[in-house]
Amino acid sequence: MLSFHSKWVSFTAVASCAVLLSCAVNPATGRREISLVSESQEIAMGREADPAATEQFGGLYGDDELQQYVVDLGNRLAVISERPTLPWEFHLVDHELVNAFALPGGFIYITRGILAHMNSEAELAGVLGHEIGHVTARHSAGQITRAQLGTVALIGGAIFSETLRDNLGGAAAGLGLLMLKYGRDDESEADALGYRYVTRERIDPRGISDVMRMLQSTNPSAEEMGIPGWMLSHPDPGDRVAANDRRIRESGTDFSTYALNRDEFLQRLDGLVFGEDPHQGYLIGERFIQPDLQFEITFPSGWRIQNSPSAVQAGATSDDAVMQLTFSNAQTPAACARAFVAQDGVTGGRSGQQRVNGLEAAWAEFTVQTQSGEIRGRVSCVAHADNVYQVLGYGTRAGWTTHAASVGGAMSTFRHVGDARYLSVAPHRIDIVRLPRDMTFAEFTQQYPSTVPDDEVRLVNQVGEDVTLRQGRLMKRITGGQIPTS
Ligand SMILES: [Zn+2]
Repeated sequence: MLSFHSKWVSFTAVASCAVLLSCAVNPATGRREISLVSESQEIAMGREADPAATEQFGGLYGDDELQQYVVDLGNRLAVISERPTLPWEFHLVDHELVNAFALPGGFIYITRGILAHMNSEAELAGVLGHEIGHVTARHSAGQITRAQLGTVALIGGAIFSETLRDNLGGAAAGLGLLMLKYGRDDESEADALGYRYVTRERIDPRGISDVMRMLQSTNPSAEEMGIPGWMLSHPDPGDRVAANDRRIRESGTDFSTYALNRDEFLQRLDGLVFGEDPHQGYLIGERFIQPDLQFEITFPSGWRIQNSPSAVQAGATSDDAVMQLTFSNAQTPAACARAFVAQDGVTGGRSGQQRVNGLEAAWAEFTVQTQSGEIRGRVSCVAHADNVYQVLGYGTRAGWTTHAASVGGAMSTFRHVGDARYLSVAPHRIDIVRLPRDMTFAEFTQQYPSTVPDDEVRLVNQVGEDVTLRQGRLMKRITGGQIPTS
């Protein structure tokens, strides 16, 4: 089912359908659909966007066993779907945000943040089945546009010439994100398909209701550094728990012999990183500190900042200027600055070399003519330890007039960090404990203290305030965590 964004697109689609007779029945939804995108195109789109999408959500989570577990469970559900021959890929990505998403062609992503909030294999299967449903019903294939793909490529990429050439209507396009937002009908349909795959695989569909309740109880509009949470990308069609419970009732099936796999699942989460991982770099206000690489930079006041493994980006809230920090392949700062202005379409202006906080550095001003107007900016390259870093700032002509001084000021804040207080950091982790006796939640947090607030512990365990926790039950507590806040 394609969801059309405008009458114009809709008209085009109908026309091409009539001319090319490219209508087919979707095996998952049973509906006739107009294929604007062939299956091979769909796969190509997913494959093209996959590296940037993975990157945007923090890269792959570095636990091979857990990664393989997600892959195996995902494949079990995918092969019994209506599109078993797609090149299905399942990725556990290293982001604390509660989200899961799918790209066309069968590329599916689960954050470690959503995993941390789950309490059984049936819940994970519920989310994977739902995302598989978006793919088999071809929701995202209809939605993802070339512009979005361009934006995604840009996020992951160090391809600045492309950055500057493409769709810079607002210069902050550089901060555009992979934001697939489904319609409510698509959500209901993906829920129904997820139920189908989960029950075919003899996994308890009551886990679907559990995970939906969990998703509703996590911050519904969680948006962190510009990245949408589950509820933003998957609008609640309303009563989805009730709809799932109704499916269960109406099936007339006794699901008690179906797999919930609560304990086995929770054991797998033991040691999982919880919340922000400061080793990926962390923020104190607008001050970004990368403890493993031992540098810091302070972005202009009030800017939105987004961090991914290969780039840190910041954007003015007025959407007319951005900054981006990446690794440079150049051997020296001067070579880095020269290489930047030597790109096609980039016109170099004033340039020079001067040390930044004792570090060897070079800078150049530049302009780029685009279809939507002139882009102006400044590149600053700094040598630190074994790396050369490129700090790029640019904006629309008007935006640059407003922001050039603060961007220049931000560039001059790049410095070495040697203070152990900022370098010896550690993330929080999940610790799984088995209760030796019946106890209340208050007794649990007293006997097994966590290093995050009780409300958060309650949320990840999905337990109410007054419930008695039974002897033998596995519970998550959160330990460790060392992240400076000032
Ligand atoms: Zn969805």
